[in-house]
Amino acid sequence: MEVLEDIRTRVYRFGNKTADGNSTMKNLLGGKGANLAEMSAIGIPVPPGFTISTEACTEYNELGEEAVLAFLKEDVEKAIENIEDIMGTTFGDNENPLLISVRSGARVSMPGMMDTVLNLGLNDEVVKGLAAKTGNDRFAWDSYRRFIQMYGGVVLGMKPESKDDIDPFEEIMEHLKEKREIQLDTQFTVQDLKDLVYDFKDAVKKRTGHDFPSDPWQQLWGAVIAVFNSWNGNRAIYYRKMNGYPADWGTAVNVQAMVYGNMGENSGTGVCFTRDAGTGENVFNGEYLINAQGEDVVAGVRTPQQITKLGSERWAELAKVEETDRAENYPSLEELMPSMYKELFEYQNKLENHYHDMQDMEFTIQDGKLWILQTRNGKRTGAAMVKIAMDLLKQGLIDEKEALLRIEPNKLDELLHPVFDPKAIKRAHIIAQGLPASPGAATGQIVFFADEAKKFRNTILTRIETSPEDLEGMNLAKGILTARGGMTSHAAVVARGMGKCCISGAGALKIDYKNRTLTVDDKEYHEGDWISLNGSTGNIIEGKVATIEPTLSGEFAELMKLTDKFSTMEVRTNADTPKDAKAARNFGAKGIGLTRTEHMFFEVDRIKAMREMILADTVKGRKQALEELLPMQREDFEGIFEAMDGLPVTIRLLDPPLHEFVPHQLATQKELADDMHISLSAVKNKVAELHEFNPMLGHRGCRLGNTYPEITEMQTRAIIEAALNLKEKGIVSKPEIMVPLVGTMNEFIEQETIIRETANKVFEEYNDTIEYLVGTMIEIPRAALMADKIAEYADFFSFGTNDLTQLAFGYSRDDAGKFLPIYLEKGILTVDPFEVLDQEGVGQLIKMGTERGRSTKPNLKVGICGEHGGEPSSVEFCYNTGMNYVSCSPFRVPIARVASAQAAIKAGSK
Ligand code: PEP
Ligand code: MG
Repeated sequence: MEVLEDIRTRVYRFGNKTADGNSTMKNLLGGKGANLAEMSAIGIPVPPGFTISTEACTEYNELGEEAVLAFLKEDVEKAIENIEDIMGTTFGDNENPLLISVRSGARVSMPGMMDTVLNLGLNDEVVKGLAAKTGNDRFAWDSYRRFIQMYGGVVLGMKPESKDDIDPFEEIMEHLKEKREIQLDTQFTVQDLKDLVYDFKDAVKKRTGHDFPSDPWQQLWGAVIAVFNSWNGNRAIYYRKMNGYPADWGTAVNVQAMVYGNMGENSGTGVCFTRDAGTGENVFNGEYLINAQGEDVVAGVRTPQQITKLGSERWAELAKVEETDRAENYPSLEELMPSMYKELFEYQNKLENHYHDMQDMEFTIQDGKLWILQTRNGKRTGAAMVKIAMDLLKQGLIDEKEALLRIEPNKLDELLHPVFDPKAIKRAHIIAQGLPASPGAATGQIVFFADEAKKFRNTILTRIETSPEDLEGMNLAKGILTARGGMTSHAAVVARGMGKCCISGAGALKIDYKNRTLTVDDKEYHEGDWISLNGSTGNIIEGKVATIEPTLSGEFAELMKLTDKFSTMEVRTNADTPKDAKAARNFGAKGIGLTRTEHMFFEVDRIKAMREMILADTVKGRKQALEELLPMQREDFEGIFEAMDGLPVTIRLLDPPLHEFVPHQLATQKELADDMHISLSAVKNKVAELHEFNPMLGHRGCRLGNTYPEITEMQTRAIIEAALNLKEKGIVSKPEIMVPLVGTMNEFIEQETIIRETANKVFEEYNDTIEYLVGTMIEIPRAALMADKIAEYADFFSFGTNDLTQLAFGYSRDDAGKFLPIYLEKGILTVDPFEVLDQEGVGQLIKMGTERGRSTKPNLKVGICGEHGGEPSSVEFCYNTGMNYVSCSPFRVPIARVASAQAAIKAGSK
């Protein structure tokens, strides 16, 4: 049968500042191949090479090895010749050999599936040539033994056969180490390396029945086929299935000349950044080593030197190295190899201008010739992220939308809390890990009880879990650590609101209140011992770690201003105190989306009256106690309204189960009995009566207001009176009274009637009025289903996604810590639904609730006040659902503002 001539291009060359491909050809050349082509095409000296296309891989799968090798042979031979011309070396030559690397590279990065063979082209003769050429026996023989090991594993399948099996080559090395009584690979002598090569080849022969291939061409084709095969290996198939990548994509094969930075004093290698990844400062910087391989720079065995003179001088100052010593022993590349430096400087400029972002580059100097091995967008701190985005905008390299999209909203956290000094953190001893519940850094002495939070100047309140009674202590402590509880546990929510560092759910901690000890892995810590918490990572650290105050740079403010230009969905805050309200307003909150009134009742002067109210047996008794609470509550609201002058403030009526307010300890029960002139047993009986099997589903939310209407009356009166009092002073209050935990329309109607009647009474008494709204939380699934009915009466909806998640999943917020971590570990859940909104499930209820509500009242104001209101992906969902606002903790306001602007930009609405 006649084979039609195939004119398809399968081999794409790059090098010598030209390329057959470019970065748009990722599907054909794979991500790595396309990027190498792009760099070469714009004039960056990448080690020359070629990419065999992904189509060739697909042909291999369909037509088999023989057909594809026939298609490739001539082009690959030409491409190797091209590399030889550029490098001035010859593949397989005994005196001046070209060595190559062979790597896979799919159109998307598939870590773990990638097989790589380095130093290909070596054999018993070539290794001698390499040794002679470099004058370095050790380097040549070490490269050869590494090559056999890699090739044996990747191409000849000499890998451990099971998880418990050890790598056959490692086993041989271990034997030799034992025999020679040495520990490290670096302690092998040249003769050891030669012996290893011999033993490795022997092992190959025994296992495969064939000699290790000595012909470089045979080695190359073997490696190409192995890379093709790796596309259909178990690992790759699993990875593809997991990510939904189709099998017909195939992988490309990248073949590239090896370059070495360890060929003598005229060689070196380094890593550099086009800007400072820590501060964002627009200064070129990096580190290098002369006569070294890439991993030497990061391994920290030798002290890497700075690339620029300025960097070198800054380093010397920190390291306390004298200038003469610095210049002599640690010269910068700029000083040592000025022409190499100049060239590198030009390339970094070119790459940053090309990719419009800060680049992290790797380079190697081989015998006086500079090669760029890799470039990618560099990782950076939150501060650097903001500065770089705004600087690039000012330089005209990106536009406003792109500057906003460059911001990873969660990273702004770092700019909003005190942080550990990066130098100190490097030396820190981490003793355990918990959930990063509230970011920031805290160092203090351990206390186990909230009322002892003032015992030392800086304390870390360390509890099994916290309760509302601990509020004051939490506020006084520098940080909060709990052994139990998740991201929406009491400790976590309160700490985030306070902007206080908190680690929750650290299961490894054993806390013994009686003996006042904290035990981790058999080590005991006592009250007064110093520990430190990194609330951004969940690391619990032994001892003191120095912290630094964050500086809100000018660029941060500029960025925040930019968000207003694009966001159409407002950001409010969850705040219970004037202090929090002010902090949030400074961060740009456009109102309060949730004031939890219950927090106000825990302060010392109020809890007594609150307890009396709860323990009262008659309406009269309750009213009397509420009378006492009224002026305090009114004062609270006045403070908040004043702080939010002119902006809307949503106040939620009392929500938690009453047992949370009563004392559970004998001493406090006695105190209360004395205060109320009743017997201790009466107090005990009442406390026992309040016990509920399932308090989260019990007597709470609007069920309180509907059974004790006088509570709703008192709270409404306090709100309206506060607003009217301020009106006299010219302060504008815009209260939005919110009924919690509504599940039926009648529950809401009952409450609304009380609220409106009470407000009218106050208006009459003051002979004045204010505008106010009455709305509801949607946090019970039934409320979402019945939203069209509820909207007939409610002025607004606010989704309480903490409870909505709890009730939709049927996961108790207070008990989920027992199984959620295991679910996450096993992959039953991919994220904690209390942290990241479950758009698929709970999201349906939110969409339905919004749509149904607006079907009755088209202009219904809709927002969210659950913890998700400050989580970027959830904020985007809220935007796409058409919400008017999201509401979150004060310290998440800037994050939500960026997320809101990004959502609008992505949706193309502006
Ligand atoms: C909610 O349930 O989402 C909510 C905001 O209320 P809380 O967390 O106080 O129950
Ligand atoms: Mg709730």
